Amino acid sequence: MRFAVVGGGIAGLSAAWELTAATGGRAAVTVYEPGHLGGKLLTSDFLGRPVDEGPDAMLTRVPEGLALCAELGMDDELEAVRANRALLFTGGKLRPLPEGLVLGAPAKVLPLARSGILSAGGVGRAALDVVLPRSKQARSDRASDTSVYSLVATRLGPEVAERLVEPLLGSIHAGSTRQLSAAATAPQLLAAAQANRSLIAGLRATTRARPPSGPASPLFVAPRRGMQALADRLVERLTDLGTSFAPVMVSSLHRDQRSVVIEPHGEHFDGAVMALPAPVAFSLLGPVLEQGAAPPLAAMKFVSVAVVTLGFETAAVDGPVSQGDLSGVLVAPGSGLMMTACSLGSNKWPHWAGPGTAVLRVSVGRAGEQSWAALDDEDLVERLCGELETVLGRRPAGLTAPLAWRVSRWPASMAQYEVGHLEKVASAKAVLARDVPMVSLAGASYSGVGVPACIGSGRRGAKELLAAAEALGLPAS
Ligand SMILES: Cc1cc2nc3c(=O)[nH]c(=O)nc-3n(C[C@H](O)[C@H](O)[C@H](O)COP(=O)(O)OP(=O)(O)OC[C@H]3O[C@@H](n4cnc5c(N)ncnc54)[C@H](O)[C@@H]3O)c2cc1C
Repeated sequence: MRFAVVGGGIAGLSAAWELTAATGGRAAVTVYEPGHLGGKLLTSDFLGRPVDEGPDAMLTRVPEGLALCAELGMDDELEAVRANRALLFTGGKLRPLPEGLVLGAPAKVLPLARSGILSAGGVGRAALDVVLPRSKQARSDRASDTSVYSLVATRLGPEVAERLVEPLLGSIHAGSTRQLSAAATAPQLLAAAQANRSLIAGLRATTRARPPSGPASPLFVAPRRGMQALADRLVERLTDLGTSFAPVMVSSLHRDQRSVVIEPHGEHFDGAVMALPAPVAFSLLGPVLEQGAAPPLAAMKFVSVAVVTLGFETAAVDGPVSQGDLSGVLVAPGSGLMMTACSLGSNKWPHWAGPGTAVLRVSVGRAGEQSWAALDDEDLVERLCGELETVLGRRPAGLTAPLAWRVSRWPASMAQYEVGHLEKVASAKAVLARDVPMVSLAGASYSGVGVPACIGSGRRGAKELLAAAEALGLPAS
């Protein structure tokens, strides 16, 4: 069997791994990747440390990340995150996030009231959830999706939706909760609302059922050499197993009898995993789709973001940095700031820490807030250093002159799972099953944007191909 994997991000590399591992290396696999193998998994030197330019962590609750690391023999290369406590910048002040939040929605009222994040009226409105009758919306959500904002505001009021859920979920998706699908981006909230009259009661049950995170079972992990080490190890092992890597931008895909033909070089394969953003996948697949059959996912939206890495003398940031358990600050939209979050990288990761200097990563870019993209790198750094003084407080040592800085721009990088996303994914898969069953889909456009979810999606895409190959009676080698 000959398979192509189009796109060499973590989803594509995981698909290639599944295709070779599941066939004992008997399938011939070619990965097409014109850019960086690993895609968004990119680590580079910063102040002599391996600092990530894209993702810096894997959530352990989604098991596919840890499982792959174990298969690759990387268990002992993983570091547990050291800091888990975040602050929220809202209303011009830094406030601790109340305990018991699930994606920003509270499982407890008292810590919420004490946090000072909501007005007294906002706390009262949130508490009403406990006595209000079951909302019609939560009932109908079983059949149809709704926005995260609508789900939360209906039960807990607009302040919880705007001041807590928006910054927390927004920092994961760089999206607006008014558009994001509850079913696709906050299934825990949707399930809690559907199973209980009160959302707070439902979330309390969810948090009780969760094992606590701690040093023995950390919430996030990352390889000590940075996230790219995972992609590098995959490439190394895949090369040993005979996988080919073609540094080629695929221009289209068509069919020739039972073969899938990848252009521009006209190479024939028994099947292909399309591990790239949905609009690109469906534009490449144009020639094999029935006239006008491109599914709604082909028009999916993506938001551009950037990560600005800053190195400071520890004295310049000693207030926040000396709180060793502090992982960073989320910035609520409407604060008048460009930055959406600031991660205290050297607090989080031992491999980013060094004597006398601290590493911070400041994020910009969310749906509807793209003014940062017009600034050149120097102006962006200057602006964000000024904003850091606003957020962290003006310091004697100053924050306007970092020892080192780096801007990593990620255009059209954050997939927006808008209301109805899961139905669109189902319809995209149905179109492929009808028009070109030997092609499967993988990556951050479909069933989760996190690295472990993309690993899972790549492996599922590969399994779907192998099952289709078996159904067609293709020989195993
Ligand atoms: C700044 C940032 C921070 C993030 N932080 C985290 C985090 O801490 N934790 C986490 O879990 N997730 C995080 N994410 C999300 C996560 O990194 C991504 O969702 C995930 O890496 C996407 O993997 P992928 O393989 O689907 O896509 P990509 O990595 O985008 O790979 C797709 C590949 O397809 C290739 N390609 C495109 N067109 C073609 C073509 N025509 N032919 C051949 N190849 C093509 C591209 O070159 C690219 O390499 C972050 C994302 C960003 C942008």
